Amino acid sequence: MNSSCPDTDYSAVYARRTQPTLVDYPGKMAALFFTRGCNFRCGYCHNPDLLENCGGITYTWEQLEAFCHDFRRNWVEAVTITGGEPTLQPQLGATMRFFRDHGFAVKLDSNGSRPEVLEEVLPWTDYVAMDIKCSLEKYPEFVGFRQTDNITRSIEIIKTKARDYEFRLTLVEDFHCEQEILACAKLVAGAKLLIFQPFLPHENLPEERYRTLPRTRPSALADAVRLAAPFVQQCIAR
Ligand code: SF4
Repeated sequence: MNSSCPDTDYSAVYARRTQPTLVDYPGKMAALFFTRGCNFRCGYCHNPDLLENCGGITYTWEQLEAFCHDFRRNWVEAVTITGGEPTLQPQLGATMRFFRDHGFAVKLDSNGSRPEVLEEVLPWTDYVAMDIKCSLEKYPEFVGFRQTDNITRSIEIIKTKARDYEFRLTLVEDFHCEQEILACAKLVAGAKLLIFQPFLPHENLPEERYRTLPRTRPSALADAVRLAAPFVQQCIAR
C-alpha cells in the first residue's frame, strides 16, 4: 500500500480503459478511470451500466500502483476520473492524491451536483470538466436532479478556484432550443471555456426515445456556439 494516502484498501475507481487516450485530457496522453453510480438520470447517458452504485469492488492501491508503472512505459502523463459521478465516492480525494503523488496530472469529470466535494478535492485537481445539462429550471425534468443551487455553487467554485477547467454541454437538438442555449450560456457567464458536443444516438441509451434521435448536426453546434460565445471567454464545438 502507498503510504501517502489510503485509509482503506480500496480506491474510488473500479474500471478503466485499457488503452491510453488522447481525447480525455486536453493536450496530454491520459489513462481513463471510471467510478460507479450517478445521482442524475440523463436519458441519453452513454454509460448506463455505471448508473447504479451496486457497491462492487474497486481497484486496490496495489493495483493502481501496477497501472501507474504501465502508464510510464506508455507515455501517459495524465489521469482522467469519470463516471457515473465521481464525487459520490468517499475515496475520491485519496484516489486523486494517489495519482498526483505518482506524478500524473489529474482531471475530474463531474455533473456539478456536489459542490462541497468538488471544493474538497480541488487541491489534487489539475483540470475540471463540468457538464452543464440545461437551464436550471429544466434540471428536474431533463436529468432528474432538483438541488439546482448545487449546480450554481459548483459553477462558481470552478470559475473562481479551479486551476483549469471547461464547462461542456451535450446538445440535444430537439430539447436545446435557442432559449435553453442562452440560459446555459448565462449560467456560466464569464467562464474561460464552454464546449458544445454532439448528442450521439445509441441502442443502449437509457430512454428509448433517444435511441433513434439523429446525431446533432454540425450546423446546430455552430449555431449554439454563435449564440453562447458573447457570454464566455471562449466557446467552441467539439
Ligand atoms: S450525469 Fe453523466 S453519468 Fe450521470 S446520468 Fe448523466 S450522462 Fe450519465
